[in-house]
Amino acid sequence: MEAAPKRELRINAVELLRQPGAVRSVEVTVPGGDLDVDHEALAGVIGVALELEALNDGIVVRGGIEAPWERPCRRCLKNLKGLARADIDEIYQVDILDEDAFPIVDGQLDLAPMARQVALLELDDERLCRDDCAGLCPQCGDDRNVGKCDCDTEVTDHRWAALDGLVLDD
Ligand SMILES: [Zn+2]
Ligand SMILES: [Zn+2]
Repeated sequence: MEAAPKRELRINAVELLRQPGAVRSVEVTVPGGDLDVDHEALAGVIGVALELEALNDGIVVRGGIEAPWERPCRRCLKNLKGLARADIDEIYQVDILDEDAFPIVDGQLDLAPMARQVALLELDDERLCRDDCAGLCPQCGDDRNVGKCDCDTEVTDHRWAALDGLVLDD
């Protein structure tokens, strides 16, 4: 059984496909549940703003997704909030010619699975309160952004710094 409220993101593609060049806009805000996005970092409704343009062999979908998030800093655990934005540039096809294309099934183009993928990717992003966040002391737990504790953690520090460097490189 399919949950009901995703209808706003399910578009009748038949008419669009009859008129190559035709454009249609879709702008909705939906709760995470409508996209099957059950993510602890999601802190509000997800905004989807897309333009659908009909081609001869499919429909191009361009625009963006916005998702408000709230999660702790990866190093110091301070609570952070923000709005994640991601661009979308995808294609939907009846006959999948492009291997990255999303399917048009029974004349319907369903934006929800695509929006879900993008939103989850954004929400999975780990965050830092600032690039050089000093984090918590592994021994006493003090926030090193606030002050320096007396713990001797030099060796540990270097090891973590190297690991953080690797993570940040990607
Ligand atoms: Zn931090
Ligand atoms: Zn300490």
